[in-house]
Amino acid sequence: MGSYTRLRMNIFVVYCCVLLAIGASAAEDQISASRRSLAAADLKPCLSTAKARTAYPGSQEYENARIVFQLRNRYAPAAFVFPTTVAQVQNAIACSIKAGVGIAPRGGGHSFEDYSLGGRDGVLVVDMAGFTGFSYDRTTQTAVVGAGWRLGPLYLALWNAGKVTIPAGNCVSVGIAGHALGGGWGFSSRKFGLVADNILEAQVVLANGTVVTANKSKNPDLYFALRGAGANSFGIVTQFKFQVHDVSFPVTHFKYTWTTKSQQFQNFKAFQTWGVNVPAEISASFYLDPFGNSNIEGTYLGPKSKLAPLLTTFLQNAARPASTSVEELNWIQLILVNAGKPSNTDPNYLKLQGFQLPTNTFKAKSIFVNAPGLSDAGVNAMIKAMNGGPTQKAYFLYDLFGKQSAINQVPRSATSFVHRSSLFTIQAVAYWGNNAGEAAGDTAYINNYYQSVRPYATSEAYQNYIDRDMPLSAYYGSNLGALITDKKKWDPKNVFNFPQSIPLK
Ligand SMILES: Cc1cc2nc3c(=O)[nH]c(=O)nc-3n(C[C@H](O)[C@H](O)[C@H](O)COP(=O)(O)OP(=O)(O)OC[C@H]3O[C@@H](n4cnc5c(N)ncnc54)[C@H](O)[C@@H]3O)c2cc1C
Repeated sequence: MGSYTRLRMNIFVVYCCVLLAIGASAAEDQISASRRSLAAADLKPCLSTAKARTAYPGSQEYENARIVFQLRNRYAPAAFVFPTTVAQVQNAIACSIKAGVGIAPRGGGHSFEDYSLGGRDGVLVVDMAGFTGFSYDRTTQTAVVGAGWRLGPLYLALWNAGKVTIPAGNCVSVGIAGHALGGGWGFSSRKFGLVADNILEAQVVLANGTVVTANKSKNPDLYFALRGAGANSFGIVTQFKFQVHDVSFPVTHFKYTWTTKSQQFQNFKAFQTWGVNVPAEISASFYLDPFGNSNIEGTYLGPKSKLAPLLTTFLQNAARPASTSVEELNWIQLILVNAGKPSNTDPNYLKLQGFQLPTNTFKAKSIFVNAPGLSDAGVNAMIKAMNGGPTQKAYFLYDLFGKQSAINQVPRSATSFVHRSSLFTIQAVAYWGNNAGEAAGDTAYINNYYQSVRPYATSEAYQNYIDRDMPLSAYYGSNLGALITDKKKWDPKNVFNFPQSIPLK
């Protein structure tokens, strides 16, 4: 496989999440017997009373369950439990407290820092995959969804139920729970908001075993906290009620690609200038890599015939594309294309049956940039840092928010997702697969990129692209104080914690 082809495949692993597991078995490490047996003996008798499936160190099921998207850390949990009822979740929480081990709910296992394994050894992982309840109400355009869904199957279920959707991301194996609780940006978010903005209600099991509902009128402080900072800081969410959106009309996928390094500055400038005023019906992401590639990919919520005028400003200012693709589709075809599949793929692919979950080993950082975007000096610094590293296994994504977007119509303190005035967020990723020797250099490269861009950007970063090295203020900003107050009320003994959870003070 040529290096360029391999790079493109790897990009899809991270971005669209469709291809190739990078060495999951080869990355199997040598965890010690003592790490494997951490606290399992204490948990076993307690967990067995609730009759949920479990997996303990020493079993193949345990080793399989340890594989999550990010293979950098390979944490060794005390045990896994796979509940299918709320009572079993309550029991799991009680058992973790009794055994004195940490607890981590898992959705789709796509945390950039392996926080669904607790972000350390020896926790009880509560895998929520069994929570797949689903109902759709056509009159209110709402859906009640269990916390165990992955995005692909959920997109398909919503489409089949009523040609409706939620504005989630492109990676079909990402879990709805982690995604929604930290924000959730996708190729219809500029029109419909973040997934978090579409949570109308959540059912949560608290540390003391109580099951509570959080919505606008019931427990509004918890409702505030869950929509942006809900990942494993306040309780385990078992179910969401979402506002859903009609997508029964034709939509258009577009992608313009360039392959010349010298065009990157011009194309990036064209993207951010255009992005300031582009209408909410367009969602888009700009891509750069150290090979010299750039592209813009996005969705127009309307027919192909109406797209051209909306892209004029961008295309006039960008270089002449090396390739162009503009395709009118129905919504579920668009989901397939965004996931890297041809539009004529059987939509049942999205059920992910027999699907090998993708994995990668990488370092990522994010940063928000406000309008009007990076200055020329900032773009130059960014491109220099990107092209000056030891690796070409890296990519940089610029996801458009902008003042016309539904995301930025929400006040900063209305939800715990504070990033409401940005033009775009940058996701910077370097990955090394099985070549652990590249880890230090690649990490330094991403850190240098961040330091180079930071003077021209904000201090905000995206909690769904979580990075262990960032302070909580970057993720929650002026909402952090209110979140700490909520933490003291809803989880006063800090049962739900991980290295970047909301603290008690
Ligand atoms: C390949 C890839 C593509 C991505 N694309 C996008 C994208 O397009 N847009 C975007 O916004 N983000 C994207 N992300 C980021 C993604 O939204 C986050 O990684 C998200 O946290 C993943 O959710 P999960 O349920 O799969 O992860 P998990 O690792 O299972 O969970 C993440 C966190 O949520 C907690 N959690 C999980 N379930 C629950 C629950 N039921 N109750 C309470 N806490 C819970 C976990 O303990 C953990 O702390 C992508 C990530 C990857 C790896």
